[in-house]
Amino acid sequence: MYVDDVLLVVGIGLLAAALLTVRSILGLLTQSSALRRYWFWLGGVIATFMVGYGALIVLWGEQSLVANELVALMLLLGGVFALAVTKLSLMTTTDIVRIAKLERDAIEDPLTGSYNRRYLESKLDEEVRRATRLKTPLSTVMIDLDHFKHVNDTYGHDVGDKVLRHVCAMIMASVRSSDTVIRYGGEEFVVIAPGCDDADAASLAEAMRAKIAGSALNLPNGDNLVVTASLGVSSLRAGSAEAMLRAADEALYAAKRDGRNQICVAAAA
Ligand code: GH3
Ligand code: MG
Ligand code: MG
Repeated sequence: MYVDDVLLVVGIGLLAAALLTVRSILGLLTQSSALRRYWFWLGGVIATFMVGYGALIVLWGEQSLVANELVALMLLLGGVFALAVTKLSLMTTTDIVRIAKLERDAIEDPLTGSYNRRYLESKLDEEVRRATRLKTPLSTVMIDLDHFKHVNDTYGHDVGDKVLRHVCAMIMASVRSSDTVIRYGGEEFVVIAPGCDDADAASLAEAMRAKIAGSALNLPNGDNLVVTASLGVSSLRAGSAEAMLRAADEALYAAKRDGRNQICVAAAA
């Protein structure tokens, strides 16, 4: 084996290590993202280089020219460069994915996967500003499960948690992608619905009420558990975000007072 062959073989090894690093990067990126496609193609380019290095070993055969050794050294440095760039990219991608997860964890409710109360204030402010600027309607729906303490007392806390996940999934399935679902407290949820006036939000609330009341949860002991919810609806008119939330809360308690499993729309200010 000649010096140029050795240099090219080491170069192929470095490119193989770079290719493995690209595979790790691909594992961190979301399926079908444009970035993932670019990295996939870059992996293809690295593999093509490896074939080229191998072809040179065959083509140069028995000759041992200084010029070939110099080219082989440059190609080896190319391998070092590819490996360094992919390793640094992997470190950067790992950091970005970790930060994105931390950011998501800070605003996510771990039980239901909806947003948590911490997110409510900033999101509501953002939506109020947007609605005011664009002169579009904005509504909130507040949802509170009926007699939920009784569910916990009868079936236990784990079943209670299961019910919360089940109800939250139904709420999420009822809303539009522009709506935001927030777990406001233990068994209370808030939906922020941009673009919805009172009537639209009342229809959304009624659809959620009917969905929750109409879908039983099958328990391991064979029981079918049906829960109901009371819902308060309010819209942003001249008022502030706080006034809208307060109005939704008051409407919710009116729905409770009137017998539960119903919606109540806050009166226009
Ligand atoms: P109402 O119809 O008036 O709303 O009655 P309620 O029983 O739903 O209301 P109450 O405020 O008396 O009780 C709420 C219950 O929710 C009490 C608490 O044990 C339960 N809860 C709060 N957070 C959680 C949770 O994360 N998991 C479970 N399983 N239960 C919870
Ligand atoms: Mg409550
Ligand atoms: Mg309740």
